[in-house]
Amino acid sequence: MKTRTRFAPSPTGFMHIGNLRTAIFEYLVAKHNEGDFLLRIEDTDQTRKVDGAIDFIYNTLNLCNIAIDEGPNNEGEYGPYIQSERLDIYKKYALELVESGHAYYCFCTEEELEEMREKANLRHKPFLYDGRCSKLSKEKIEENLKNGVPYVIRQKMPKIGETIVEDVIYGKIKIDNSILDDQILLKSDGFPTYNFANVIDDHLMQITHVIRGKEYLDQSAKYNLLYEAFGWDKPTYIHVPMVLGSDGNKLSKRNGDASFMDLYNEGFLPSAIVNYLVLLGWSPSENKEIFTMEELIKAFDPKRIGKSPSTYDIKKLEWFNAKYIRELSDEDYLAFIRPYLSYDVSDKPKEWVDKLLTIYKDHLSYGKQINELVKMFFEEEITISKENEEFLASDENIPLVIKTYYEELKALPVWEPEKIAEVINIVKEKTGVKGKLLYMPIRIKISGVEHGPELPDEIYLLGRDVVLNRLK
Ligand code: GLU
Repeated sequence: MKTRTRFAPSPTGFMHIGNLRTAIFEYLVAKHNEGDFLLRIEDTDQTRKVDGAIDFIYNTLNLCNIAIDEGPNNEGEYGPYIQSERLDIYKKYALELVESGHAYYCFCTEEELEEMREKANLRHKPFLYDGRCSKLSKEKIEENLKNGVPYVIRQKMPKIGETIVEDVIYGKIKIDNSILDDQILLKSDGFPTYNFANVIDDHLMQITHVIRGKEYLDQSAKYNLLYEAFGWDKPTYIHVPMVLGSDGNKLSKRNGDASFMDLYNEGFLPSAIVNYLVLLGWSPSENKEIFTMEELIKAFDPKRIGKSPSTYDIKKLEWFNAKYIRELSDEDYLAFIRPYLSYDVSDKPKEWVDKLLTIYKDHLSYGKQINELVKMFFEEEITISKENEEFLASDENIPLVIKTYYEELKALPVWEPEKIAEVINIVKEKTGVKGKLLYMPIRIKISGVEHGPELPDEIYLLGRDVVLNRLK
């Protein structure tokens, strides 16, 4: 059987990195087995819907080099791929379950349900629908339907025994049937619940592997009962542990947690984000950290996903991103970094700008950081920290070193990096000072900070006037 997986987001116009990681895992399972990866839009909660969300998802996955084989924008044989366009399908299957005795009409009003909830509260028990409508006579049901009494359709749960869920990561889970609620499958507005639609769609779309958040693991007992009621094969379940924010809480849009687009706009490369996210909870069998998509497809084995939640660590992501930035060709690097530079360079020669950006290639963790790094080239005043001021005052040779630089640079006939590098040697010979005491004073004086790119490049790009002025 051909492997088929699906990514099934709600169209909220937002993708946090936990969702994206799930999509990547789904894609890798499909492609490792030469199968198909589908996009299905779960918009049964119409209040969360956002215009343009589908294109946003395509765009995000496309940036990540994840191609959707079938979905709303490229329909295959199993459409529609948007749940709100499949309402008649859900209705048909819900009625089939009513017919076979695995589901029933429920006409309970909101007041009746509230009363049941209150009773459960008083007894400190979780609310379970008491099943009263499952006992209605055929005639009563007919009459209600004829009179247009609003109804939902509920799944009829077994009251005894247990249901088993088998999961690739968590193994065999047993759920006591007595705790299963006669959950709603079809709401009174004709929309299915997620709990129903996911089963119908996964079956009809011939999904072989369901990969989703661990919060659905226990729920899968109910889904299994639905598969059994229909006599359908169950998919392979791969429930993945959560990604937590650095505060230990679940990632969420509400907490403003890392969204893919935010990271992208900050200047994180999608390939680095993908690489980082895959290793967040999955460990390869070989001791290796940097993977291309092709390598991931080859290496990915979902059995190696761990059971415990992982923590999103921006520092680690920055480390990956820095590595990926360094791997770019100079041409690709310039095309990548140029849009992040927010200083006005319209009066500077292109060579100067390109060189400036290039000398920071090995120093960058993400695109926007370039502005912080090149600040000294654009701002009149540089600020020297207290520690650096203390350093400048810490050795009696420093004033002489600075003075010698000043004189030698002033006298330099040709202003170019090679000649400037020679000046450093001359200062070394003339003052007898070497190492940190030779480099740091000039670096701090001209840039304000103690680290930076190659000193001759930095001096060259600042230009003679600025350098002499700052040394003075
Ligand atoms: N719409 C569900 C979610 O975003 C999908 C869960 C699933 O993959 O089945 O959590």
